[in-house]
Amino acid sequence: MILPGSSIGILGGGQLARMLALAAKPMGYRVIVLDPDPKCPASSVVDEVIAAKFDDVTALEKLASACDVVTLEFENVPASGLAVLEARVPLHPSAKVLEIARDRILEKQFLNDIGIKTAPWAAVRVVEDLEGAIGLVGVGLPAILKTATLGYDGKGQARVSTLEEAQTAFQKFGKNCVLEGLVDFEKEISVIVARSSRGEVRAFQPFENQHANGILDVTVIPANIPESLSSYAEKIALEIAAKLEVIGLLTIEMFVVGGSSVVVNELAPRPHNSGHLTIEACPTSQFEQAIRAVCGLPLGNVTPHSPAAMVNLLGDLWQNGTPNWNAALEIPNTKLHLYGKLEARAGRKMGHITVLNESREDVVKNALEARDRL
Ligand code: AMP
Repeated sequence: MILPGSSIGILGGGQLARMLALAAKPMGYRVIVLDPDPKCPASSVVDEVIAAKFDDVTALEKLASACDVVTLEFENVPASGLAVLEARVPLHPSAKVLEIARDRILEKQFLNDIGIKTAPWAAVRVVEDLEGAIGLVGVGLPAILKTATLGYDGKGQARVSTLEEAQTAFQKFGKNCVLEGLVDFEKEISVIVARSSRGEVRAFQPFENQHANGILDVTVIPANIPESLSSYAEKIALEIAAKLEVIGLLTIEMFVVGGSSVVVNELAPRPHNSGHLTIEACPTSQFEQAIRAVCGLPLGNVTPHSPAAMVNLLGDLWQNGTPNWNAALEIPNTKLHLYGKLEARAGRKMGHITVLNESREDVVKNALEARDRL
């Protein structure tokens, strides 16, 4: 058990690390982040920033010797860097989990091997693989070509309707891809599971997610799905986390199909944008739960106090100057989170707003209005 007073290291200093630190500090932990940018979003709330690249062996050794446990906010840390850490300090989630979760080919293979349904897919390693992939039952055209690694927020993805379009997209990406059949889904949901170093597991109830231009736009709880489907999604999520033997958080993004079933889209072994509303809506936020899990503390209660909705605030909102925070915060139970990013670029996640209210309909209405008023 890594008790309060100990030091937690975080790989990456973006908004997820910032919110992890904001959960760890009141519990009495010291927090050190490693990030190439000394002014990263977490920098203003942590005890120390080690400003270095993720493959800088000296910096990783320094982080390992200063910390009792290391966790992370993104899965794309080079394997060589993870090996340096793992030889010196507990790393949660482990290099083995990260290897699977950062590569769509290994991830889908793992899921299918344990009997979990994904979209029909095929690996595309060379351009000649495309024709066979399109010919597979269930894939066909149109389909989605996704880079196997380093895709996020809709980047590294292309919808393709012909073999030629698929070839052009593959050549543009220039790396291993998967071709996925289009899933005709009714809703997108995600389930965040925590699994502690003591083997304790707990799932947040499903979040309902809406995307705009490939980026998460709105999350709401409770998800508008039957209770039986909610329990089923949680059961699958817990099973995946147990089979993966993850320690920390695992987010499982799913598509709801046919009203009563789910198809798993993607795994993220870390806090997730769809879980931000847990800060206000649940007795234990996803960030506190991550800290508890990696430190081997008892996991906290995650039953929401109330319905909640979260809207992301992208850099586009700054186009005409500083957004009108005052107008948004006039709406009761509206909570503003800004990540301390110095430059507001279009499409960049700058912050979010969470709203609590009595019903699902009210929270969505209030959250969208709060953002409109900005
Ligand atoms: P991803 O990066 O895999 O999370 O995909 C981003 C978004 O694209 C998802 O949240 C869906 O809205 C959409 N999408 C991804 N894969 C598929 C698919 N196989 N069928 C339909 N929509 C998809």
